[in-house]
Amino acid sequence: MDPHRLRNLRSPEQLRARLEGERQRRTTLSFYRYVRLTDVETLRHTLYQEWEALGVLGRIYLSQEGINAQLSLPTANLEAFRAALNTREAFAEVPWKIAVEDDGKSFLKLIIKVKKKIVADGLADDAFDVTNVGAHLDARTFNQKMEQGALVIDMRNNYECLIGHFEGAYLPKADNFRGAIEEVTKMLRAKEAQTDDQGARSVDPVIPASSREGRPTTAPEILLYCTGGIRCEKASAYLKHQGYTNVSQLHGGIIDYARQLKAEGLKSKYLGQNFVFDERLAERITDDVVSSCMQCGTKSDRITNCHEATCNMLLVQCEACATKYADCCSPSCREIHQLPIEVQRVWRKGRSTRSTKTKAVNDTDGLRQRIREEEELLTLNGTLHPELMDISPKPK
Ligand SMILES: [Zn+2]
Ligand SMILES: [Zn+2]
Repeated sequence: MDPHRLRNLRSPEQLRARLEGERQRRTTLSFYRYVRLTDVETLRHTLYQEWEALGVLGRIYLSQEGINAQLSLPTANLEAFRAALNTREAFAEVPWKIAVEDDGKSFLKLIIKVKKKIVADGLADDAFDVTNVGAHLDARTFNQKMEQGALVIDMRNNYECLIGHFEGAYLPKADNFRGAIEEVTKMLRAKEAQTDDQGARSVDPVIPASSREGRPTTAPEILLYCTGGIRCEKASAYLKHQGYTNVSQLHGGIIDYARQLKAEGLKSKYLGQNFVFDERLAERITDDVVSSCMQCGTKSDRITNCHEATCNMLLVQCEACATKYADCCSPSCREIHQLPIEVQRVWRKGRSTRSTKTKAVNDTDGLRQRIREEEELLTLNGTLHPELMDISPKPK
């Protein structure tokens, strides 16, 4: 089999049409497993053939350290897919999570990529035991421990926490996993120094403040969570390696938490929406709105990408601002986005298009400042892109 044929060769329009025309219902699910895999390239090609035949669409990462899969497939093929997974020891009985809010249109094509790691975490894994992970908690236990005062930490990136998070959780400002875990470690160390200080003053001045003894009884339990649970595997192992013994993690992440809430009628301590990495961008967990429009400041948790293709910045934007700025992040992007498509194409030549959905506006004040300045300039000059003079078709 020619491996070059084992990939998608259709255009996005064809793919969308294919999905829209499909009669069968689809289920969106995700799973991962840290497991040693060998001959990953060959495995990739075999899986592609097998899964394509089952109508699987999605994004799958394979590496020597395991598998990380987000996919959709015809609901009728769920059983066959489970059987296919079970024929391989590495994937046998791997727990999967089914998306709650789901129209089955999450993925357009099947992509299976061989990667160095299944999650790009930037950590030096050789330095610690990645299998020494924290205790896995179900939704009910997670809620109970929150009520008992555990310290809840969001292990996702800043843009993922924007539109929803656990009540009172620590939300890292970093936009990547490594940054987040470093920030969390720093925060924990600072907390510890505080506690040690107080302890030294009020309890026993003889014990040095830096003593590690007794910490497990005073330090609050640490609860970690992320989207699907996978990042907490690494994060909890890392924190344990750093000396924090009382670390637990939300099993199956927010995705499975939402499922358990429904199944068991539990009250959600997660507020708002769950950020997801497919076309939907978000999955609603509760009706709480925890964020504001980055442009005007009114309460909103409508997350979107700037429609100007070379910008593509993630932002929280209310409906009114979406209209005002033509689905763009700024007047400058709006001006380009509203040009005839041919002119946009010429303008884009030589500019790189950010295709990722993973960069978000992180300085709201800066954005608003920029919008004000651009509006002024626009009134003054009639354009924010003088370079357009050279490419715009001359008005007749
Ligand atoms: Zn707004
Ligand atoms: Zn923009």
